[in-house]
Amino acid sequence: NWVQWNDRLVKDEEIQLSKEDRGYQFGDGIYEVIRVYNGSMFTAKEHINRLYESAEKIKLVIPYTKDVFHKMMYDLIEANEVTTGQVYVQITRGSSPRQHQFPIEAVEPVLTAYTKEVDRPVSQMANGVAAKTIEDVRWLRCDIKSLNLLGNIMAKQEAHESGCFEAILHRGDTITEGSSSNMYGIKDGVLYTHPATNLILNGITRRVILACCEEIGLPVVEQPMSLSTVYANDEFFMSSTTSEIMPIVVIDGMPIGTGLPGEWTKKLQTAFEAKIEQAVHA
Ligand code: PLP
Repeated sequence: NWVQWNDRLVKDEEIQLSKEDRGYQFGDGIYEVIRVYNGSMFTAKEHINRLYESAEKIKLVIPYTKDVFHKMMYDLIEANEVTTGQVYVQITRGSSPRQHQFPIEAVEPVLTAYTKEVDRPVSQMANGVAAKTIEDVRWLRCDIKSLNLLGNIMAKQEAHESGCFEAILHRGDTITEGSSSNMYGIKDGVLYTHPATNLILNGITRRVILACCEEIGLPVVEQPMSLSTVYANDEFFMSSTTSEIMPIVVIDGMPIGTGLPGEWTKKLQTAFEAKIEQAVHA
């Protein structure tokens, strides 16, 4: 398998990373996960824009133009003949003697990217999954897709140990998002989701979903959902690049609505699939 290492496409074995890489020592870097369907990247521009925005927010200068970066990801997918899968790409602030403040400007960021085949989670999307509510103890810049994921990991592990697919994070009574997903409730024909503030990552899938809502005539209210009324939703689902639109049918052991994926959720899944079809066959 080929991997992208800075400006070079190399074999996996050739990569050399430093013990003092700031990504390794501090989680000082950013990343993206881009879906590949039928050999083509889905919403690549949006992911690349978000990567550059994350970089800017942490004052990291990516040493490639967006066009060059896009071409790198394209060539990597071609080289590995990915069909249905994903690209993972991260950029750290580079390697320099360990100190908290930034290294001198001459230190180059370190980029690594690789691909893998990942099936669409079709059976889980059809049947729905369980989730667990967990206090959101992360920092206040969740809008940055940073490599620092301990808060997310701890929550996901707790959910996993309870036999759940995902953690529904809340700050007090306010539901923010999932450990690696955005969250949505549907009540009386209205979709509620947390606004794109510093408390959540504004998912690329989320943006596609909000466009789908408009298309299918589902009103959207971007307003924090309350934890105390979460079980009273008619429907609930999460979204991410890899999980797409994933119905959540059980929260903390309580069935949501009928305990099956809801009608609006299924309509959104259909509309989302149409977007994929359009994009990869265009
Ligand atoms: N929120 C968090 C914390 C995430 O890590 C992710 C991505 O994995 C998302 C939301 C969903 O974002 P996207 O739809 O761009 O994958």
